[in-house]
Amino acid sequence: MLSVSRSDHRLVHALRVINMQADIAPQAMGSLLISFGNTQVICAVNIEDGVPRWMKEQKITGGWLTAEYSMLPYSTKPRKSRMALQGRFDGRSMEIQRLIGRSLRAAIDLEMLGARTISVDCDVLQADGGTRTAAITGASVAIALALQQLVQKKELVAHPMKKLVAAVSVGILRGEVLLDLDYSEDRDAQVDLNLVMNESLEFIELQASGEESVFHHDQLSLMLEYGREGISQLLEKQRSFLEEKQIFF
Ligand code: UDP
Repeated sequence: MLSVSRSDHRLVHALRVINMQADIAPQAMGSLLISFGNTQVICAVNIEDGVPRWMKEQKITGGWLTAEYSMLPYSTKPRKSRMALQGRFDGRSMEIQRLIGRSLRAAIDLEMLGARTISVDCDVLQADGGTRTAAITGASVAIALALQQLVQKKELVAHPMKKLVAAVSVGILRGEVLLDLDYSEDRDAQVDLNLVMNESLEFIELQASGEESVFHHDQLSLMLEYGREGISQLLEKQRSFLEEKQIFF
């Protein structure tokens, strides 16, 4: 039974087609091109010795993870100019990169990582809704690939990834709960929810907002049910992708 209400006739609780391609940026220690339908994000990860100065000053042991997010100018129609070149502060990107950082720090044993910093760069190649959730899901795999390099070089005795992390969007459009919204759905949605969970299906972040609208407890429950099911499927795809590459943790 296909949904007539969705732009691509997907079932209300169906993800878009998910694809992952490793080593898209060969100079990075780990990289992945992830697509959720037409949304495509390049996730590149590097790991360097050292931690931010505030950690040293506060005598916080272990490592750190930091993330940057940006939309490439040609990822949207019309073209989106590079904010940095204009010296403009892009609040949306700041908010998204902080979300990515928080989500992924929850995936890693920072003590086991030691005094190293993981830098995650997420660049949107094609934007069609859900870029932040695709970025988190892709970066989780790219980090696992990068950490494996340190394990192989015996710089780490074990892989410091605790649990994979995945994220998905859910929303309400014309009163109907929908999983993994594309741009045309997201634009008109009354409610927008971004969900980040780990492999134990524990919550890492839950952001839900009525866009000038309200929602009820039963609608929230259904959004969480669809979101949790979508995240389970994403986690399975991430796991089998890594297992094919003989990466286990
Ligand atoms: N979008 C865009 N230009 C922008 C911001 C957003 O074209 O400057 C589009 C893009 O397709 C994006 C969607 O709007 O995926 C939804 O944006 P939102 O801020 O909700 O973030 P996302 O859903 O991508 O995480």
